[in-house]
Amino acid sequence: MSRLVVVSNRVADPRKSAAGGLAVALGDALNDTGGLWFGWSGRIIEPGQSEGSAPQLQRAGRVTLATVDLSREDHDSYYLGYSNGVLWPVFHYRLDLADFDAGYIAGYRRVNRLFAQKLMTLLHPDDVIWVHDYHLIPLAAELRAMGCTQRIGFFLHIPLPPPQMLAAIPQHEWLIRALFAYDLVGFQSEVDVQHFSRYVRNEADAQVLGEDRYRAFGRTTVAQAFPIGIDVDEFMRLSHAREACETYDTMREQYSRRRLLIGVDRLDYSKGIPHRVRAFRELLKHYPENRNSATLIQIASPTRESVDAYADIRQELEGLCGAINGDYGELDWMPVRYIHRTVARKRIPGLCRAADVGLVTPLRDGMNLVAKEYIAAQNPEDPGVLVLSRFAGAAEQLKEALLVNPYDVHGTAEAIQQALRMPLEERVRRHQKLLARIREHDVHWWRRRFLDTLAQAGD
Ligand code: ADP
Repeated sequence: MSRLVVVSNRVADPRKSAAGGLAVALGDALNDTGGLWFGWSGRIIEPGQSEGSAPQLQRAGRVTLATVDLSREDHDSYYLGYSNGVLWPVFHYRLDLADFDAGYIAGYRRVNRLFAQKLMTLLHPDDVIWVHDYHLIPLAAELRAMGCTQRIGFFLHIPLPPPQMLAAIPQHEWLIRALFAYDLVGFQSEVDVQHFSRYVRNEADAQVLGEDRYRAFGRTTVAQAFPIGIDVDEFMRLSHAREACETYDTMREQYSRRRLLIGVDRLDYSKGIPHRVRAFRELLKHYPENRNSATLIQIASPTRESVDAYADIRQELEGLCGAINGDYGELDWMPVRYIHRTVARKRIPGLCRAADVGLVTPLRDGMNLVAKEYIAAQNPEDPGVLVLSRFAGAAEQLKEALLVNPYDVHGTAEAIQQALRMPLEERVRRHQKLLARIREHDVHWWRRRFLDTLAQAGD
């Protein structure tokens, strides 16, 4: 079995349960193959400090973690600048929030080249390399230029926008050309694959060779959708553990005569949190039966606070929540509980299970794992209802949720009302189908299918 080499912006110890995300997804495969996980250490070297030239190596069971430090200048232009100031907003369809500072691209290239140089020193001839996400699009092109012939796959965790929007990025052609250095390019949803296909046919005269193979820029690559899932079994175990049960009991006790709605997100403008809160206000306005009853708990964890657009969304949300509580609050009831914090991962299943409605209404999202976690956390005999944005990648799979257009505040309020009034029999029926779907397409399925396809791609 080939050794798996994972490359992503950040690296985590797969043995630590708090690691979450990719660590859960790839931990087994890394462990089984004695794999290597390469990325940024999270450390920033300030001007005047010396940086080590070799990657720092650390053992985590059978897995080797290899990390490199970044200089302040590289971190600011590669991570804050190009990755999170250009690619993140544009790939989430927010041209208005992009900061096309011409200086960022040099840092993005430099760090990708630096990663490639350091990684080259650690590679074995029959390694299989899996590169993750928008920070590292040109990594394979850099590796190939240095003579790397190993199989390399890429997975984009965020959406790919339509060609016209992609074309707003000054380096759009360079970015898509760079994807052709991979043997396999994976996207979250079919919509993303369609955007890729349209872009390469229209802008790069690509030939479509069938079986998801595309030829352009003198190279062939395979592009397919691999919708990422969660570890359903692990999440269910977590939901029966002490912390989750305690959280559930506390919530149910506090809200015994009330209806509970929950939102759990990073405080990111892509998550549509202000639109969601406005929909909740509309619910209170148009369906007065919910006053003094329906309570929205919105947990929004701080993220990327040094990027301007994130400070703006925080202010907007604080203003909105304060206004609703002022308008509708009673001495013994506040309609919105907004918590700007990360909650312990172990408590999330309890919160989700206690909520009658899960609100997952991003304006745009590659997949959205909270939607799947909400489903996995429900009591199958009395499940809550998922209200899900049609613009989340998850909507392609989770058709039995109540799908909404988050820009349509009134329509979303109506869907929330439908969710609150949904009879038990319908809730159970929808939940069974959703649960079966996330079970079948869980994170282990995702990993196997990507790696199996990569093993065959390029043959
Ligand atoms: P993104 O990767 O864009 O943040 P996802 O929905 O795909 O969005 O994944 C988010 C993950 O982070 C989920 O596992 C979710 O449980 C967790 N998470 C999100 N917000 C919070 C929060 N406020 N506190 C704790 N965990 C959170």
